[in-house]
Amino acid sequence: MDFFGDYVQTNTEEDIIAKTLIWTAGIEGSPIPGLKKDCMAPGNRIATDEFNRVVNYDSIFAIGDVAAMISETTPKGHPMVAPVAIQQGKLLAKNLRLLEQNKPMQPFLYKDKGSMATVGKNKAVVEIKKLKLKGLIAWITWMLVHLMSLVGFRNKFITLFHWVRNYFKDDKTMRTIITPFVLSDAKRKRRKQMEDNRKQESR
Ligand SMILES: Cc1cc2nc3c(=O)[nH]c(=O)nc-3n(C[C@H](O)[C@H](O)[C@H](O)COP(=O)(O)OP(=O)(O)OC[C@H]3O[C@@H](n4cnc5c(N)ncnc54)[C@H](O)[C@@H]3O)c2cc1C
Repeated sequence: MDFFGDYVQTNTEEDIIAKTLIWTAGIEGSPIPGLKKDCMAPGNRIATDEFNRVVNYDSIFAIGDVAAMISETTPKGHPMVAPVAIQQGKLLAKNLRLLEQNKPMQPFLYKDKGSMATVGKNKAVVEIKKLKLKGLIAWITWMLVHLMSLVGFRNKFITLFHWVRNYFKDDKTMRTIITPFVLSDAKRKRRKQMEDNRKQESR
């Protein structure tokens, strides 16, 4: 697929007039050189057992997004979200101590505390068991939960400061320009042709 500023060309050579292209794609892990290929799961995640131990290794562990704990209840591994990473991190710290003491490790069981997402200023959705919130109240809940999850007072304070500043400044810091866009003659001609076709169709 290619985007030419005014139209999108699909991999089947179909042209779609569009001034904005929103590209969404999944994420995948980057394989670690040296790890055996048979411990890799789909999406370049690392297959682990219920203790986050990389399969076919005794002393290598993987947690969070990169870990695929494939089981009957989680055939595709756990969802790649922060609570999974946090809970696995805490349990692994505990398990490493147990391992040191030659005690049996505890298997990982994900506690799904609910889902929340912001969808703009003053807008969010929250679902915690049967409780469903939306709008401003959900947005405040989202902020409180995320703020409390940050480690240390300093991080919490700096994040809150940035949020308050951004709220009033309305200035998006993420402004990515990858390359200057230059429309070639051929593309300009094609765009003109498409616009003419569109005008003719609408008559
Ligand atoms: C756009 C976006 C929005 C998201 N929104 C949410 C959300 O609302 N709620 C939610 O729960 N989850 C959300 N997630 C998912 C969440 O961010 C992840 O699940 C979580 O961060 C996983 O934590 P992790 O520690 O496994 O990995 P990460 O947080 O990705 O940490 C991995 C770290 O390892 C570093 N690293 C990578 N390779 C190397 C290397 N070779 N050497 C040294 N360091 C390396 C990386 O730089 C990174 O700092 C979102 C993810 C994205 C991309």
